[in-house]
Amino acid sequence: MIAQAPFRLHRFHGGLHLDDRKALSTGTPIAEVPLPPLMVLPLTQHIGGAAKPCVQVGDRVRRGQTVAHAQGVVSSPVHAPTSGRITAIEARPVPHPSGLSADCLVLEPDGRDQPLDTPEWAPLPDFAAATPAQIRDIARAAGIVGLGGAAFPSAIKLNPGRVVDTLIINGAECEPYISCDQMLMTEQADEVVLGIQVVLHALAAPRCLVGIEDNKPEAIRAMSRAAEHDARISVVVVPTRYPQGGEKQLIQTLTGLEVPSEGLPLDLGIVCHNPGTVRAVGRAVCFAEPLIERIITVTGEAIAQPCNLRVRLGTLMSHLVAQAGGFTDTPGRVLMGGPMMGFALPALDVPVIKATNCVLALAPEQVRPTPEAQPCIRCGECVTVCPARLLPQQLYWHARAREFEAAEDLNLFDCIECGCCAMVCPSHIPLVQYYRFAKTEIHAAEAEKRLADAARQRHEARLARIEREERAKEEARARKKAALAAKTSAPSASPATPPPAATPAPAPTSAPAPAAADDPVAVAMARAQARRAANNAVPAPASVEPADGDGDGKPASAPPAQANSAEDDPVAKAIAAAKARKAAKAAAAPDADQGADPGADQGADERDPVATAIAAAQARKAAKDAPRASATPDAVAATDEVDPVAKAIAAAKARKAARAADVPSPSEPSAEADDPVARAMAAAKARKAAKVASATPADDDDPVAKAIAAAKARKAARDAAGNAPQ
Ligand code: SF4
Ligand code: SF4
Repeated sequence: MIAQAPFRLHRFHGGLHLDDRKALSTGTPIAEVPLPPLMVLPLTQHIGGAAKPCVQVGDRVRRGQTVAHAQGVVSSPVHAPTSGRITAIEARPVPHPSGLSADCLVLEPDGRDQPLDTPEWAPLPDFAAATPAQIRDIARAAGIVGLGGAAFPSAIKLNPGRVVDTLIINGAECEPYISCDQMLMTEQADEVVLGIQVVLHALAAPRCLVGIEDNKPEAIRAMSRAAEHDARISVVVVPTRYPQGGEKQLIQTLTGLEVPSEGLPLDLGIVCHNPGTVRAVGRAVCFAEPLIERIITVTGEAIAQPCNLRVRLGTLMSHLVAQAGGFTDTPGRVLMGGPMMGFALPALDVPVIKATNCVLALAPEQVRPTPEAQPCIRCGECVTVCPARLLPQQLYWHARAREFEAAEDLNLFDCIECGCCAMVCPSHIPLVQYYRFAKTEIHAAEAEKRLADAARQRHEARLARIEREERAKEEARARKKAALAAKTSAPSASPATPPPAATPAPAPTSAPAPAAADDPVAVAMARAQARRAANNAVPAPASVEPADGDGDGKPASAPPAQANSAEDDPVAKAIAAAKARKAAKAAAAPDADQGADPGADQGADERDPVATAIAAAQARKAAKDAPRASATPDAVAATDEVDPVAKAIAAAKARKAARAADVPSPSEPSAEADDPVARAMAAAKARKAAKVASATPADDDDPVAKAIAAAKARKAARDAAGNAPQ
């Protein structure tokens, strides 16, 4: 629909009213160009990295087949515009202001124009069901770039990463002579609107403004008709004023917003596309068509039949001129683009690329001889017309003096090279050429700086790597040294050479070997080894403190390796006390050792915890037995009552003594038992025998014999008493 009031337009600064000369090429419909005999496909038809060929010389290709892949994010693939054979991959002249050659694929069409059997991606006629990422990927795979002349890869603009509230379709086409967008919008408005809807879906934008200058009434009507069923799309008629088609200028006209210096429309939530670009996106998504053709205006007073042509990319411009009836006269100049922002072509054997929107052949009389530049008179006309609000004369001075930093400070890169300043300059100074020169020099310096930075970063990375490797080696050496130091200190606490009783066992040290002082791993290893050695050296009597007996998990603070006195070391003191107790026990029970060498046992015990425990048990038993051995006969008797063996021995000896004393055994009672006289005599004999036995010198020396004899005597006495009359 056509936007109605109260849609308020704004006005950008400066600009010029120019004779548009569009009617030259809009009198006839868009014509189809037959396939040429030769096509040249530059690998760089866009802003960004060159595409990389994926075909070889001699390969046969089909229409729509990818022949060169995009390299990097800002890049675009190239597709075969028709079927044929690749005959060369070489440098060829390309349409560029520098006039230099560039790498190209040369395709010899076979005339059959065979498409791929299966498209390289599936068409999505129901694009509303597709995700934005799918649409973006298709746009990238299709090699779509901005067809307004910038040739920026469109997939990037379809993936802005920010909220977009307005999509602007730049249908201003303000440059004189050029009418390809106008004719596209007039004849294929439905396809343009389809593309707009696809892009709106991809951006999730709520509205679209189609800006068309008021000198294109047919295009306005057609677009309004095509968009009338979609309330999101508004066709906005803008005044014809050059450079209305500048992105920043159209945004200001439509929204009143100014894109900040060195900023992007996206900073304002706006994305701009050309009508041809959105149509290409729609065709790629809905019909799986890559970008292999575009509409080009072939016009100028030197062209016999100015027109708009649908042209396969790679077609040589000479072929286009031939389709437009050729030249009426030798042209004064042939440009790619319009008279304001186009550049002269060195020859016509250069191919049509994605950025080509017009081939303009000016008549000789239209090309004014370039007058010699005069000094700047500071009239300020250039400032008045500059749509970017720059100071063109100051930019000129700085550029001429190669003061590029100063030119940058004056926002040189905001210059859109519209040429308004140069057109009005009374001194005929080629101002735009100075700006282009300055921009090129700055870009070259930046590229050089980037290379130098990359080289410096590589050098610094190499130095850092070498330093890292050296540090790692030093750390490995330190660890090894620490391990050796820990091993060297461990033998003093080794179980094979137990320390003397007064010498404290090595305990963990809080002062690790100096070489490993900085290495936590080495310190931990040394600490563990020392702790193990301490445990081995001290057979852990309950009263001995552990190596880190303070319980804080840290090693004892005194370095035992250097400790000379046990008095200074509580651990050593505890060990000495334990050994003293053991020695005392052993001394108290000399028989318990049964002739064993205490010194040898001590060493063995201290080495072997089991042996130590056994020795301790023996000592305890010996200590217990010793008092018994020296006990009184009463004590022996008491023991006999407890020990059945001793009791039996004592009973046997008593019986023998009784027999020796002619006393009848209690188990064998005689006839005398019934005789009181005989019993009294026997008792007297027994008492006498007991006395004799106790008076025996040997008994004094042998406590066992003494005890036995005493027992015998008591037994005999009991027996005698038992036989005595009651
Ligand atoms: S228009 Fe030309 S002469 Fe006038 S100020 Fe600008 S550069 Fe100087
Ligand atoms: S060419 Fe640059 S400096 Fe000159 S008027 Fe245009 S934008 Fe301004």
